[in-house]
Amino acid sequence: MAYIHFEHINKYFGTNHVLKDITLDIEQGELVTFLGPSGCGKSTLLRCLSGLEEVTSGKIFLDGKDVTEVSPRKRGCGMVFQQYSLFPNMTVAQNVAFGLKMQKMPKAQIETKVREMLDVVGLSEKYDQYPRSLSGGQQQRVALARALVVEPKVLLLDEPLSAIDALLRKNLQIEIRRIQRDLGITTLFVTHDQDEAMVMSDKIHLFNMGTIEQSASPVDMYTKPASKYAASFIGHYNILQADAFNKAAGTEYSSGCLAFRPEIIGISRTEPEEEAIVIKGTVRNQIPHGNIVRYTIDANGVELDADILFEASSIFEIGEQVYVSIKDGNILELE
Ligand code: ADP
Ligand code: MG
Repeated sequence: MAYIHFEHINKYFGTNHVLKDITLDIEQGELVTFLGPSGCGKSTLLRCLSGLEEVTSGKIFLDGKDVTEVSPRKRGCGMVFQQYSLFPNMTVAQNVAFGLKMQKMPKAQIETKVREMLDVVGLSEKYDQYPRSLSGGQQQRVALARALVVEPKVLLLDEPLSAIDALLRKNLQIEIRRIQRDLGITTLFVTHDQDEAMVMSDKIHLFNMGTIEQSASPVDMYTKPASKYAASFIGHYNILQADAFNKAAGTEYSSGCLAFRPEIIGISRTEPEEEAIVIKGTVRNQIPHGNIVRYTIDANGVELDADILFEASSIFEIGEQVYVSIKDGNILELE
C-alpha cells in the first residue's frame, strides 16, 4: 500500500458534496500538489488527512495504518497555512520549540533541535526575535520550522505562499523544495497557482469540483493535458473547436476540440517552407512578458496566442500581416 492512501473519500457540508469519491495514492518522500481553482475541495481533502475535518465516507491510511477515526494529534501531520499563525508573544525559538515542549522533551534536547531546525530554514540569527519583527516570508519559514521540528509523518502546506509578494515567493518555492528534499519528508502542497505547482511538485493532482481531473508529473501535465479542463488550467493553451480551426486552416480534425501551446506556434513575414500547418493572419495584440512576447493573432477567423522568444530584431507590430505556422504533431485532440 502507498504511504498515504485515500479510499473512496466523500465529504458533504450539509447538502454540498465537496469531495466526490476520491481515491488517491501518495508515495513516501514525494512532494505532491493539489492544484485547482478556489472552492474545488483541495483544503478539505488536506484537512481530512490531518483530522481537522471528518470524512463523510471512505477511509484514509497513513503509513500503513487506518487513521480515519484517529484524533488529529495522533496522526502526526505538520501543517502550515496561508495566514501566519505564529504565537505573537513568543520568540522565534519559543515558537519552534512549542511542539517539543508539549511532548515534554528535555530542555537541552529542545534547544539543540530548535537550533538545528532554524539552521535548516536559514533563520539562526532570528532566534531571540519576535514574529512582528520578521517579514512575511521569514514568518512562514518559522512556521515551517515549527511544523518540521516534531518530525511529522507528513507535512501539509495549505497555500503557504499566497500572501507573499512575487519575488520572495519564487525564492521560497525553491527553498521549501530544497528543505523537503533534504529531509525526505512526504509533503502535500495546496495551491491554485499552476506555475507554483510546476516548480514545486513531483506530482500534480488537478482538482475539478471535488474530483481529481488528472494526476501527472509537471512535465506530463504541461505537455499532455488529458481534457479541455486541464488544458485550460495549465500552460495558457490555445483551445479551439475543431470545426472552427478546420475552416481557418484547411485541416480535417474530427475530434470536438483542439489544444496547443502558444510556444509551438511560429510567426513569419514570408511564407514558411517547413512542413507545418500555415495560416495567414493579422497581429491583433502584442505584449512583452519577460523573455517572450505574446502575440494575439487573427488567423483567418480564429484567434490564436503565440509566444515568441524576445529578440528586438523580430518584433511584429499590431496590424502586420503574418504567416502563422503550427507543427501538426503538437496539436492535441481533446473531447
Ligand atoms: P479549496 O481549498 O479548493 O479552495 P475548500 O476545500 O476550502 O476549497 O472548499 C470546498 C467547498 O467546501 C467550498 O464550496 C467551500 O465553501 C466548502 N466548505 C469548506 N469548508 C467548509 C465548512 N467548514 N463548512 C461549510 N462549507 C465548507
Ligand atoms: Mg483552500
